[in-house]
Amino acid sequence: MLKIALPNKGRLAEEVRELFNDAGLEVRGRGERALTASLGGEFEAIFVRAQDIPEFVADGAAAAGVTGWDLVNEAGRELDPLMDLEFGRCRLVVAAREESGIQQLSDIRDGVRVATCFPRLTQRYFEGHGKRIAVVPVSGAAEIAPHLGIADIVVDLTSTGSTLKMNGLREVDTVIQSSARLIAVPKRDPETSRQLEELTLALGSVLRARGKRYLMANCTRDMLPRVREVLPGLNGPTVVDILNGGNSVAVHAVVAASSIYRTTTALKSIGCEGILVTRIERLIP
Ligand code: AMP
Repeated sequence: MLKIALPNKGRLAEEVRELFNDAGLEVRGRGERALTASLGGEFEAIFVRAQDIPEFVADGAAAAGVTGWDLVNEAGRELDPLMDLEFGRCRLVVAAREESGIQQLSDIRDGVRVATCFPRLTQRYFEGHGKRIAVVPVSGAAEIAPHLGIADIVVDLTSTGSTLKMNGLREVDTVIQSSARLIAVPKRDPETSRQLEELTLALGSVLRARGKRYLMANCTRDMLPRVREVLPGLNGPTVVDILNGGNSVAVHAVVAASSIYRTTTALKSIGCEGILVTRIERLIP
């Protein structure tokens, strides 16, 4: 059994579960509070706090895990980042009170107190910029610390920036960009490596498919050169005969989800009919 540490709650938990489900690694028979559950096949999930996952994996309690890149860096353990899962995007930022007069890093004086849930990253960041600061470690809600007078500035996570704004804070600089990562123990036996390869292939196929759509359209053969211009790509579209005795064909192609609107409009203007767009569950190159 390959043990995978997954977040038991919080922002990442739901999206992790959805990704594993889509990859065919469905959480089976997990009770309300159960700490472990089968994912089918040779995979087993251990549910723990997102913050603890880097330690669990580094210590070998789980062979792999999914957690935020911010937490992996804060833990500072030797870990192998296998895959960026592309959700849970956020930034760890330095922020100061709007009225503090701090606009940029150079406005921050030595000796300021910095409230943060990320003491190591904060310390390393300011050291790297040649500044001596005092870390005020907190376990949450760092953004209220400046208002309580326990810190001058904060180093906190943000995605849209609205929580910082709501708390009268202004972003000064980005410490690190983060998103959810699949991590693993760096030293592993061949059997674990094989299982991890299987896991990354399954998760990767889902991630690749999420940004793509499968497009089908009917047209006549004489339209194909123009269709080819709208649907380029290395292998071009697949052209399938339609058995109606005429010269109609069906064109199939995988296209970027972001270009679907443009592509379907262009196909329509060429004269294509019966345009069909569907989601793709998995894409294995
Ligand atoms: P949580 O379990 O809710 O404390 O969050 C765990 C992880 O979710 C964080 O360490 C980040 O990697 C990630 N995350 C994504 N977006 C945000 C956000 N806007 N604020 C805080 N954490 C976020």
